[in-house]
Amino acid sequence: MNGPTTRWAVVTGGTRGIGLAIARRLVSDGFGVIAAARSAAADLPWGVTYAKLDVTDRAAVDAFFAGLPKLDLLVNNAGLAGAQDNDADDALWHAILATNLTGAWYCSRAALTRLPDRTGRIVNISSVLGLRGVPDQPAYVAAKHGLIGLTRAMAMQAAPRGITVNAICPGWVDTEMATQRFGEIGITADEAAAGVPVGRIASPWEVADMVAFLARAGAGSITGQAIPIDGGATARA
Ligand code: NDP
Repeated sequence: MNGPTTRWAVVTGGTRGIGLAIARRLVSDGFGVIAAARSAAADLPWGVTYAKLDVTDRAAVDAFFAGLPKLDLLVNNAGLAGAQDNDADDALWHAILATNLTGAWYCSRAALTRLPDRTGRIVNISSVLGLRGVPDQPAYVAAKHGLIGLTRAMAMQAAPRGITVNAICPGWVDTEMATQRFGEIGITADEAAAGVPVGRIASPWEVADMVAFLARAGAGSITGQAIPIDGGATARA
């Protein structure tokens, strides 16, 4: 049960996909979890509370974090992907940058004022596309690279307080976002899996386990890092 010693986590985009798996995993580790997203999920698991939040709305983000009774861990997971046509208007570019990068900045700066010294944690969900490029998603690639830069800068800000800030860089993970992307590039899930060195797409649980690890006291010396969970994709020559 949640009590005065319960650790509290905010998972942005915690209502589905990777974020929901992270929320479930953190509950099993004894966290009270707030899943913050624009729209509510039909039924969230026990221990996960929904909060309506658009991470691109700075005033709403500041009010949300100021209103939290306690915060030990922020997971910046909210994300938006999409193929772009270079000649299209700029709306998608701005939306992707705002969600994946500026939103993480808004949440991180607000969270830093609430996180406890020594045990506070921030984990950013970047992507292998924060480490590598593809031709048709310039905004997503730029935002996820930027999120790794933000991770390093915030890690340096937070280091004197003993708070760690890390990024996780997943390759293909079995979620709605990945399914949409398979459609965009015209491949099946099996074909995507065949392109991964280990021969399969990761489960959201594998990302959630890394978040749980980074949240532990024993991970207190790991900070400013970008950790791939990609079945070996970024190790391949
Ligand atoms: P989904 O599209 O399944 O889920 C995205 C989540 O983000 C939803 O809960 C959504 O809720 C929330 N969200 C989107 N925009 C906002 C916003 N402005 N404010 C608050 N919440 C928002 O994505 P995945 O679970 O697949 O992805 C999670 C993260 O992992 C993303 O950052 C993604 O870029 C990254 N990633 C995913 C990979 C994959 O293969 N699936 C690979 C590498 C990285 P709502 O729409 O209600 O706001």
